[in-house]
Amino acid sequence: MSVYAVFGNPIAHSRSPQIHQAFAAEEGAAIEYRRILAPVDGFATELTAFFAAGGQGCNVTVPFKTEAHALADDLSARARAAGAVNTLQGRADGSLYGDNTDGIGLVHDITVLQGVSLRDKHILMAGAGGAARGAVLPLLAEAPASLTIANRTADKARQLGAEFGVEGVGYAAVAARRFDVVINATSGSLHGEWPPLSDALLGQAALVYDMMYAAAPTPFLQHARACGAAAVADGLGMLVAQAAAAYALWRGFSPQVAPVVAAMRREMEAGA
Ligand code: NDP
Repeated sequence: MSVYAVFGNPIAHSRSPQIHQAFAAEEGAAIEYRRILAPVDGFATELTAFFAAGGQGCNVTVPFKTEAHALADDLSARARAAGAVNTLQGRADGSLYGDNTDGIGLVHDITVLQGVSLRDKHILMAGAGGAARGAVLPLLAEAPASLTIANRTADKARQLGAEFGVEGVGYAAVAARRFDVVINATSGSLHGEWPPLSDALLGQAALVYDMMYAAAPTPFLQHARACGAAAVADGLGMLVAQAAAAYALWRGFSPQVAPVVAAMRREMEAGA
């Protein structure tokens, strides 16, 4: 049986096993998909042991994405640009191929599941950490009119923007501007906080997206809705879509995303 895994620390909360087993059911395949808790200083050892024992591919989550990038023998262009790897594939010659599917997961959710085209749109992304970095190239591939990165530490936004030839600013610089799509790529929602975007900016958006997901709408999305945003969405679709891209890389089978998002949503709402 093909064996896959997700590495992280912590990892007990990960929904990846359920997601990948749902994909396998659609494919009609039997796979094993494990959660592996690697010690913070022991990722490389665990990873080597996993592939030596016949593991075929794995996902990588916090805090190992940068280390996975360093350990990969070969990288996709988007993984190279992101400086982070969330998907590894073991190759026949024993080498490891690293990809980053987070950004394409985000774009799939926005354009396919939410039905919002990004072409010719003005996009604001709040945050300049790992998730934001991984999203830049896939967002630009959609040919938006503009992409602006805003961050609490404005210098980080400026640096990230300069790397990709897009605008990077502090929040004050965007307060009076209008954007079609606003993406929260900060980790603020983990603590019930959100980036200081003006009510007018949020209210004028066609879509406000929070990469964080939860059983109930995140406080940021509740706020955006109260400000008048036309539509809001959390990051559950991104999670399932990045997993689908990893599954397709490993197995050459592209699973459907929407039914798995719906099933996960039902489970989360039921408190599972
Ligand atoms: P990082 O730690 O790399 O970056 C955190 C970012 O958030 C920084 O830009 C930081 O700003 C900003 N930030 C943190 N707290 C606040 C706050 N209170 N107000 C304003 N800005 C704040 O995190 P990641 O990039 O790895 O993750 C970001 C989010 O994306 C997380 O919520 C994560 O769960 C989510 N995510 C979701 C995925 C999915 O599949 N749905 C996949 C990957 C990530 P500063 O630089 O000023 O400190």
